[in-house]
Parts: sequence; structure tokens; C-alpha cells
Amino acid sequence: MESALASIQAFTAAAFTTPDKFSQFCANGGKALGGIIGGNDFSGSMNVTFETTDPGSQEVLAAVCEMGEAEVALAVETAQQAFDTWKDVSVEERIALVRRLVDLCDRDRDVLLACEVRDGGKVSELAEGDFTQIRECAEYFSGVAQRVAMGDGPAMGVGDGVKGLTYREPWGVVAGIIPWNYPVVLTAWFMFPSLLAGNTILIKPAEDTPLSALYIAKLAAEAGFPPGVINVLPARGEITGQCIAEHPGVRYISFTGSPGVGQSILRTCDRHGTRMKREMGGNGSAIVLGDADPELVARHVGRYVNQHYGQTCCTIHRVFVDKKIADPFIDAQKAFFKNLKIGYQADAGTQLGAVVNPIQRRRILAAQEEAAARGGQAILSGGVAEVSGKDGFYLKPALFRTRPGVDCNPQEVFHTFATVCPIDSAEEALALANSSPYGLGASVWTKDIDRGFALAKQFRDGTCQINCHNSVAYGLPYGGQGISGGPGGGVNCEETFLDYTQVKAIYVADYPG
Ligand code: NAD
Repeated sequence: MESALASIQAFTAAAFTTPDKFSQFCANGGKALGGIIGGNDFSGSMNVTFETTDPGSQEVLAAVCEMGEAEVALAVETAQQAFDTWKDVSVEERIALVRRLVDLCDRDRDVLLACEVRDGGKVSELAEGDFTQIRECAEYFSGVAQRVAMGDGPAMGVGDGVKGLTYREPWGVVAGIIPWNYPVVLTAWFMFPSLLAGNTILIKPAEDTPLSALYIAKLAAEAGFPPGVINVLPARGEITGQCIAEHPGVRYISFTGSPGVGQSILRTCDRHGTRMKREMGGNGSAIVLGDADPELVARHVGRYVNQHYGQTCCTIHRVFVDKKIADPFIDAQKAFFKNLKIGYQADAGTQLGAVVNPIQRRRILAAQEEAAARGGQAILSGGVAEVSGKDGFYLKPALFRTRPGVDCNPQEVFHTFATVCPIDSAEEALALANSSPYGLGASVWTKDIDRGFALAKQFRDGTCQINCHNSVAYGLPYGGQGISGGPGGGVNCEETFLDYTQVKAIYVADYPG
């Protein structure tokens, strides 16, 4: 049993060697990487570049040109012109282009893995899983695009000599604003459904991880996507992201990121009449019932708490565990966290790498201190970690014991950070789990599947799970409730595709006379 338990491990790095093709792409012949508008590289009218770094070593990977208001305007105009043709390209042709792009992603798998491992700071086990999402996402939405009827819907009689029908069409120019934590996955989740629905797109990657979107756009050009269909605007969010939100030519925005930024963009969109979908942060919970094996479940929960070092939106940060098994659960959770191998993400065996930037590190350290100030009992108090020879943003995991009424982590902490609260009943746990304003991911752990099922349905979260967490499958919506989500069907389901379309009602009456 002990060795079976030990096999439930945190996501772990294999040694990763940076491919030359990635280094050449980053070096770009000595020039900063430009934004991509209409198939051309742009250095940007602001004459500003920023550096994208490896968070585990602070090595500068590439200099990137920052796109500003003028480039947003040009990209919208270019995408609008491209839309005039792209909207009439058949679904079959769009699918063929998407397939060619996915094949090129497979060809350059190592480069895209390097984007995740080096630019994003991920361990290879997770980066490889992320990479597989490109093909899965493309195939799923190609199927949806073949099923969903665009254009004229069936006509119905609506009155004497009057018939009416629904007309479904793409929005036109659609922007995807992407966070840094899953750049390849989230670019795919935005790009494939929006393009297959017939939109032309602007991608605004996060300033910490611009490389994958820039690389994918180059592959898209090689695949034969017409210029202007895919445009990439690397830049700071508060400047260029804001310009995108303010531009009247952007008809729809798909935002993934933090609730604060999402709400501020929403206010801008509302002023301009732009539709927006929002997939935002979470503060995931897990309820462990008294019949569960505390050591086994503590290891599974530990794996999810530590997925991308806790920088995963739906991951577990709040655990509610039956009092009967709380002590052995906490002991096992502590042992799991303490044994995580902290290290450089490209070195074999690393399980807990550096967080993405110094701002995140400061926020996390403040949250660790606040958890103690709020009455949490530190089992592992966190703090800065050192990794020999690497100047990255390393932190130790944190684990706090708490009790009902003591909310140590009301906000998303985004690190390997969990509170464990012993509870008297599942109902009490459910009330505590649901007291959070977030609502992205939650799970119940029990041998009694029927009871788990009944409880899981009562979570106020977009994804509710029994004996698993962080699951994502195409065909099932992945979205948030409360401050974790906005309107729309979430991602990865047929409604996602519909979100990238609009419908009009058309009435036709006989000519009066
Ligand atoms: P963030 O909100 O700071 O930034 C997200 C994107 O918005 C970036 O591209 C950024 O440049 C841009 N941006 C920032 N300010 C802007 C502004 N004023 N106008 C327009 N754009 C602006 O988020 P982050 O720190 O990059 O990512 C982490 C967050 O994303 C976490 O909260 C995480 O939970 C969430 N997230 C959610 C999901 C989901 O599917 N629900 C998935 C991944 C990440």
C-alpha cells in the first residue's frame, strides 16, 4: 500500500533541453520579435520593447516589441478586411487549414514545449499534457463547426403572409485576451472555436508569456491561413489590452484572467457595446468525507494543489475534511508538500518550480502572512526557497489548519497553498465551500459515489467533481459561477462555439398592396 500511495505524485519534470529552433526563434536574427498584423512583423509605433524571461533562472529569452494603440487600430482594420473574405470560406476549407496548423504544431512540438517550459516555467509532465490539447481542441471544434448550422435557420410562419427565421453569423473581429499560466492551451481554446465559426482574430498574449502565440501565428502563416485572419499583439494589458477593449471595431472579446481585470474590461465593453465572455480565477475547494482514506486522498489533493505550483485557475486551495480523519489527513498533506522537490523546471525531478514573476511572489508571500494573521495555524508557513545556481522566484509550499469561521484565504493565492478545515458534517463543509464569491472548481472525495454525486451537485461552481479535480473534457462546459465567470457557455463545449456567433431574427412579409 505504501508504494502504491507513493506512486501518486506531483507533476514532475523530465530533463528538458531547449531546442535550437526555439533559441533561433527567440534570437530572431538579433531583432526584437514583432507583433503580427496581416502576416507581417511589426515593431510598433511606441518604439518600446520588453523582455520575456525564464521565471526559474531570470534568463532573458527574447526581446519583444510592444504593440500600442496604433497597432491595435491597424490590426482591427486588417482583421476586418480579412473577415470580408474569411466569412465566406467554407467550413471544410477552414477545417483543412486548422488541420495543417495542428500538424505543424506537432512537427514543432519541442518548440511549443519550450514555450511552456522555458517561458511559462512549467515542468515537462504538465507541458506535455498541455501540448496534447492543441489537437484535441482543434478536432473537437472542427466537429462542432460541421454540426452547427450557420446562416439561415428554418423558416416559420409568424402571421398572415409573414414568415420569420433565425440567421446565425460570426461576429467579425474577435479578440482573445490570454493570461500567462496556460498560454498554449488557452490560445488553442480561444483560437480554434473563434476561427472555425468564421471570425478573424486578435490574440493579446500575457506579457509574461508572449512566445507561444507568436510562434503559433508563424505556423498558421505556413499552414496557409490568409494574412489578417490571425493577428498577435504582444503588450502590457493595461495599455494595449485596454485599447482593444475600447476599439469599436472589436465585436466580441474572450477574456481569460483575474476577476478584477475581467470586471474592469467588462465596464469598458459595456460602454462600447462590445460583447464579452469571461473565464476568471477561482479558489477551489475539496470536501473529504469521513469514509475516505486520509493518506490516499491527501496525496491526490496534493497533486492538484501543486498543479503548475498552484497557478491553475480551478485548483484546490480550501480543503474541508471530516474531523474523524482530519489529523492523519493533515499529516499526510504536510508530508506530501514537504517532500515536493523544489527546483528549476527544466531539471529532472523538479515538482515545484518558480512562480512567474516578482509581483506574484510578493502577492503570495503577503497571502501567507495574512493567513497566519487571520487565525490560521501554520503547518507549513511557506516563505522564500533557494535553488542553488538559479536566480528564480522560488517559494516553499504553505499549509494552514483553520476552523469554521476563520477564513484564511478569501482570495485566490495562486501557489501551492492550502487551508485545511476540520468539519463536523458534509453540510457544514458545503456551506463553507459555497461561502466564497468564486465558483470555478470543487470536488468531493468519498467511497460513497451516490452521496458524493448528491453533494457535488450542490456546489456553486462551474465544475463539480467526485474523487477527481481539475478535469477538463471537450463536450463538457468549463466555466465559472460567481466572480469566476461571465456570460456565455464557458469553454470547450458546443455553446462555446455559439458564443463566437451572433443570431438575428429576420422577418419577411409579402409586399403590401
Ligand atoms: P490578468 O487578469 O492580470 O491578465 C490577463 C490578461 O489580461 C493578460 O493578457 C493581461 O495583459 C491582460 N490585461 C491586464 N490588464 C488589462 C486591462 N486593463 N485591459 C485589458 N487587458 C488587460 O491575469 P493573469 O495574472 O495573467 O492570469 C492569472 C489569472 O487568470 C488567475 O486569476 C487565474 O485563475 C485566471 N485564469 C482563469 C482561467 C479560467 O479558465 N477560468 C484559466 C487560466 C487562468
